[in-house]
Amino acid sequence: MSVNSVKILLIEDNLAEARLLQEYLKCAKFQQFRLVGVQRLANALEELQKDRNESHHFNVILLDLTLPDSQGLASLEPLMRQAPNLPIVVLTNTNDDELAIEAVRLGAQDYLVKRHVTPELLARSLCYAIERKQAAETLREMNESLALENQKRMTELLKAKELNQLKSEFVSTIAHDFRNPMNTILLCSGLLQSSGDRLTEEKKLKHFRLMQSAIKNMAQLLDEVSLMSQSDSGRLEFQGRSMDLVEFCQQLLEHFQLGVGEKHELDFVTNLEAIFGLWDESLLHHILGNLLMNAIKYSPNGGQILLEIIGEEKQVIIRVRDRGIGIPATELPKLFQTFYRASNVEDIPGTGLGLAIAKKCTETHGGTISVESELGIGTTFTVTLPWCRGEAFGQ
Ligand code: ATP
Ligand code: MG
Repeated sequence: MSVNSVKILLIEDNLAEARLLQEYLKCAKFQQFRLVGVQRLANALEELQKDRNESHHFNVILLDLTLPDSQGLASLEPLMRQAPNLPIVVLTNTNDDELAIEAVRLGAQDYLVKRHVTPELLARSLCYAIERKQAAETLREMNESLALENQKRMTELLKAKELNQLKSEFVSTIAHDFRNPMNTILLCSGLLQSSGDRLTEEKKLKHFRLMQSAIKNMAQLLDEVSLMSQSDSGRLEFQGRSMDLVEFCQQLLEHFQLGVGEKHELDFVTNLEAIFGLWDESLLHHILGNLLMNAIKYSPNGGQILLEIIGEEKQVIIRVRDRGIGIPATELPKLFQTFYRASNVEDIPGTGLGLAIAKKCTETHGGTISVESELGIGTTFTVTLPWCRGEAFGQ
């Protein structure tokens, strides 16, 4: 036994019985016992509460199953709740075998039939109860830490598996999106090689243009992939330069205007003539480029595309609004995930990287991005960026 003297909480309303037990314990030769006796369950719970501040804690509870304020097994539960680590030995009358066995099943360590108790039996039962409870506790702790360890390992395994799945999904999507323009290049160059002398200049030019646009597509895809990896490894950084955001947007829109036909009307509105500040041109290019490209691409029937800039005291709100196909409401929360494409894109081509990139770039610029959309009516993306005027502007 690891304890020098065993401290017992005896819960017994019959004082004569209590006295007898105390005498028995005095006889024990191999172990010293200290007894604290109470007559009611309520007092026992109070003692256990007090025990928390004592230096010599109780080692075991000796419980009579017939008390004035609690009958039978009902005493067990509150005691075990109050002192989950304390072993309990129950005292029963001669004809209470079933009750005693049930008590052990419910968590008591042992039972003693009052009439059959001898000094030796009592001392041994108490000591064994303490040892068994300690062993059970150690086992429980070991099990708990084992379960925790297992859980940790499972989570790590799952994460690794998820990462692998993501990686292979990434590779197969990118590979697929590279194959299309590569096929175009192969086809056009093959045609030019085999029957170049029979083609009109106009046809030749058309094939060269197709090849150039395929190469541009591949370069753009490479750019996007490398930007994603930059962002994932924390290498995407804000590099502000003093410039006018209004002028930047106007130029970007002019550039887009050249690429669209008559169907689309690209408009620009702003509440301020100039919005000077520290802006990262490259991040803005990715953000607005992707939003404008989407607005045009997902309005196959044309219509107005509006780029709106509102300069406020501390922030700038940039909106890109179109009257295109819209996005199903249930899919909006997933829109900024890598490779996510809404179910209504039909045969409009895309990889599903643009918005993920726009979001990463917006966040790198210290801002937020959100979307509102109505299926078949149109979509509005809103980017809010902090307006950092910079020292160069004396603010
Ligand atoms: P890419 O990587 O070439 O940009 P993508 O355009 O499909 O491909 P995202 O730009 O990330 O990918 O857009 C994700 C999806 O969000 C699109 O596939 C489309 O379903 C939906 N979406 C984005 N912008 C709009 C818009 N303006 N109108 C309707 N749907 C849109
Ligand atoms: Mg896109």
